[in-house]
Amino acid sequence: MEVTKRAKFPATTRKRVCRLCQKDLDTIDYKDTETLQHYISERGKILPRRHTGFCAKHQRMLARTIKTARMAGLLPYVKQ
Ligand SMILES: [Zn+2]
Repeated sequence: MEVTKRAKFPATTRKRVCRLCQKDLDTIDYKDTETLQHYISERGKILPRRHTGFCAKHQRMLARTIKTARMAGLLPYVKQ
């Protein structure tokens, strides 16, 4: 059986740390579209966690914030 490289060399695996946890932030302002825009796709969809790198708590918070921003007309629901 071959051992995966990851298991053999744990130093090469990068531990993902949620950026908001690092900054100790618990909210993103829904009016801060400049920041939010980083977390939506070209089509206007909310990016998945594997892409944003957020933890579960912050990903949920992000999704809510983006939805609030959409309702406020600050972010599009769909982009062409
Ligand atoms: Zn987090």
